[in-house]
Amino acid sequence: MDKKLTPLELARQTLIQLSKSQSPPTPENYRRVYDEIAGIKSVDNAEVLGKSLEKVLTELGKDRPKYLATSQKIATFIKKRDAESLEDQLRKLMPTSANEADGVNWPSLLRHLLKQLDVNHTGITLSRKKEGLNRVIINFANDPSQLGEKIQALITSWGEGQPSTTASSATGSQTQSTTDIETVTATQKNSPAQAAVVLTESEQALTIAWRDLLTRAIKLVVLPQFSDIPAASNKIENVIRLAQAANTVEEVNALGETLKSFILRAEMRNDAQHRMQESLVQMLRLLVSSMGELTIEDKWLHGQIAIVQDIISKPLDIDTVYNAESSLKELIYKQSNIKPGLVAAKETLKGMMSSFVSGLADISRSTGTYQAKINQYQAQISETEDITQLNTILQNLVGDIREMNADAQNSHNAFEETQKKVEEAEKQINELSAKLDYISEVAHQDFLTGALNRRGMDDAIDREFERADRHNTPISLAMLDIDHFKKINDTMGHSTGDTALAHLAKVVKSILRSTDVLARYGGEEFVILLPGSKQNDAVNVVTGIQRDLTKNFFLHNNERVLITFSAGVAERLTGENIDSVLPRADAALYIAKQSGRNRVVGAEIPTI
Ligand code: GH3
Ligand code: MG
Ligand code: MG
Repeated sequence: MDKKLTPLELARQTLIQLSKSQSPPTPENYRRVYDEIAGIKSVDNAEVLGKSLEKVLTELGKDRPKYLATSQKIATFIKKRDAESLEDQLRKLMPTSANEADGVNWPSLLRHLLKQLDVNHTGITLSRKKEGLNRVIINFANDPSQLGEKIQALITSWGEGQPSTTASSATGSQTQSTTDIETVTATQKNSPAQAAVVLTESEQALTIAWRDLLTRAIKLVVLPQFSDIPAASNKIENVIRLAQAANTVEEVNALGETLKSFILRAEMRNDAQHRMQESLVQMLRLLVSSMGELTIEDKWLHGQIAIVQDIISKPLDIDTVYNAESSLKELIYKQSNIKPGLVAAKETLKGMMSSFVSGLADISRSTGTYQAKINQYQAQISETEDITQLNTILQNLVGDIREMNADAQNSHNAFEETQKKVEEAEKQINELSAKLDYISEVAHQDFLTGALNRRGMDDAIDREFERADRHNTPISLAMLDIDHFKKINDTMGHSTGDTALAHLAKVVKSILRSTDVLARYGGEEFVILLPGSKQNDAVNVVTGIQRDLTKNFFLHNNERVLITFSAGVAERLTGENIDSVLPRADAALYIAKQSGRNRVVGAEIPTI
């Protein structure tokens, strides 16, 4: 086809071809046949346009998922040439009159946002609002339509329409930003009904994660510490249940307070266990040293070992160990009491022997036997006429004298050896005595009463005062002095007085908590440390001991003897030194004595 057809001829030929092939004269068929006859490459413009649209939408869709979804949908509509659905899809992308750009009416939203930032909402501080807004902007910066929706949702979560009646507008919010925490707490305390704060999803997830972590920690760390105290275990299980259900700041704060006291108790128990271990080691040291150094009989040794075995077989408890240690010390103490008697006996023996040995020569000359023999020989000598017989007598006499001298020498040697042994024994006894002195010096307990001695008391005071400072908890100190104790000594004897002291210490210990500390301050005076107790509580505890003493009589010759004491109780002021607390308790004790004895008086709080 060399000759180019005119457009008119081309149109005519196209129509002829269409009717020949019986194809419907649609625009597409017409264009296709026309292009064929004209010899030009057929291009589907609709498809080209569709592809361009799809391409642009896909590009936009990288940042805005909404466009990507439309691009995918229109690809199929273009293929199906479904113009109606295609238009629908495109229309959805267009902003409406109400939401001009990206479906968000930004000017109105921003005005609203500014206003809501200034309004004081219950439980939401300005800085908290800013923080939330910042988070939304960061997360949805690339999708303005979602950004708008999220900002709107955030404003709603601030409790739109529920502005706090107590707070003011612009100036109020400025002040609030500097005192965020106080304002929140105060507002929540004032209106618990409105305390529930609307949290974002991520905040909620974080809160739940923290709560789970806390309850797990209580269950795995705090609870096992009290497994041997059913009452405490039940309380902690209750705390766990409360923790799981805690939703308001008040509930969480209340939980914190309960938990604080348990954590303090747990620490004190741990501490007590630690001291128990130290006591055990100390006790074993005493046992070993006493086994090695004391002159012990098998029976005694077996007794000691039985005590230790008994203790080890029981669940380890600070009081059991203290008691065992105390009984062991008691045995050593008794042993040391025997010592002066041993020394005296040995001195006598030694004196006796040395004078005997030194006088041995005299004795060998003047013993009755020798004298008798001499006399006998003298008689024989004077009576005999027979020189041969005399010779025999003399020979016998010389033999006897030799024999006696040899005996004397043997005895002398034996005695000297014994004397050496005695000296060695003396040396050993002196060493033992030095060891016993050392033991009583390092021991922290009083032998007679089993209470701590002054050294033990000083250690306990340092430890408990330091703990009170660390946990910011109260601690009180009581000073006890037995009433008319001289009279008990005078009428019943000093050793009964000793037993009375031990009886008092036993009763006091049975009443005190395991965390309280009893120390013998001196003579018939005791000090009680009550960690965690305020003055009034401590006064009540000590009054309880007085009551118990009226029920737990001290028996002397099967007769009931009522022991009473007077006491002064002082609570330690924050950071107060023992040199100040003790005199305050002592002054209160003095008042108790002055006002008739058998009473407990709380110390005055000094005016500084
Ligand atoms: P009050 O305290 O009520 O004023 O009268 P009191 O008779 O108790 O007087 P005070 O406290 O002055 O006397 C204490 C007596 O306790 C003096 C001392 O002989 C005796 N005492 C001190 N230590 C011991 C001890 O270890 N054993 C015995 N049996 N008596 C002791
Ligand atoms: Mg006294
Ligand atoms: Mg007294």
